[in-house]
Amino acid sequence: MTDGSSTVPLLDVARGNSPLREAFMEALEKVVDSGRFLFGPDVAQLEQEVASFSQVDSAVGCASGSDALLLAMMALNIGPGDEVIVPSFTFFASVSCITRVGATPVFVDICPDTFNVDPAAIESAITPATKAIIPVHLFGQCAQIDQICNIAAQHNIPVVEDAAQSIGAAYHSRPAGSWGQVGCFSFYPTKNLGGMGDGGMLSTTDPAMADRLRLFAGHGMRPRYYHKVVGINSRLDSFQAAVLRVKFERLPEAIRARQENAARYTHLLGEAVGDGELGLPQVDPDAFHVWNQYSLRVREGRRDDLRAFLSGRGVGTEIYYPIPVHRQECYQDQAFAQVDLPETDAACSEILNLPMFPELTEAEQRTVVEQIRQFYVQGARSAA
Ligand SMILES: *Cc1c(COP(=O)(O)O)cnc(C)c1O
Repeated sequence: MTDGSSTVPLLDVARGNSPLREAFMEALEKVVDSGRFLFGPDVAQLEQEVASFSQVDSAVGCASGSDALLLAMMALNIGPGDEVIVPSFTFFASVSCITRVGATPVFVDICPDTFNVDPAAIESAITPATKAIIPVHLFGQCAQIDQICNIAAQHNIPVVEDAAQSIGAAYHSRPAGSWGQVGCFSFYPTKNLGGMGDGGMLSTTDPAMADRLRLFAGHGMRPRYYHKVVGINSRLDSFQAAVLRVKFERLPEAIRARQENAARYTHLLGEAVGDGELGLPQVDPDAFHVWNQYSLRVREGRRDDLRAFLSGRGVGTEIYYPIPVHRQECYQDQAFAQVDLPETDAACSEILNLPMFPELTEAEQRTVVEQIRQFYVQGARSAA
């Protein structure tokens, strides 16, 4: 039954990378020969390419998506006594950037249909101490960023978009990372533009902000050995930039493949199981979804059973995220963690992420869906 040929990996980065091997080697050899391992021409070129793709004036490379978020907090002068509004249903780095600078996260709940932060909850959480809002564009779909930016503008609060999972996504045709004061991207290997190691980028349309972000990313040093502010050392290196430029060229094609795969899952799952016990992912009609993840809601407390069943049949899945950030051990003695976020808790107990990458085949998707169908057929039989 668990015939090896029918196994489906959660993610297989080698499938995307191996056809590009020669292009990578050529690009990397150029870096080796140039000796410019930091601040090489590929870094500046990738910054230009990402800026133009994301319709912003400047992009600033840094060492990771996590550093991008931290640098945004530092450049906005956020510190002790300041509040930053953020969802708890996200990757830890959306929040640790706030506590790292000594500020207080104010957690808000999500919309159950998209898993993205609820704009109305943001509005109610604003106080005179609010110094920024960090909406997260989760799984490849933008949050309702137009509403969020309107609310923020009424209160004169900067918005920092966590677009780590959503390069190339858009809302009302305007790209992720171009709405707020600052946008943060990640090139972690599982992201839609994934490198061969860590990397990140910041986007902004404010030239003074671009300058501050670069200042903080370079130890606050200007000129050399004179430090204006206490920054960090966070750079995108030339090797990563060279790899990323090869992949960047194919990003629109990779996004299209993800969209086709998502549409196929939705069609096949709708036929096989329906949208009752299993909640299929919902697309906001105003969003251009780039499907970093295909996320199901598994109801009736059966998520972990389904996951174990699929794992036994060779189908890889993941849970993004099993615990909300406000329930993480490191924050348990903090007053800001004592909040009630029912939609966030429900999402953590129901969510299941299926294999999703551009090179995933139709046959593999049919295998995944067939195994899910069998789980429900067996469940119905044992209940009868
Ligand atoms: C991946 C991710 C980050 C952090 O990016 P790294 O490059 O891994 O540091 C931040 N926020 C979200 C939502 C992410 O998915």
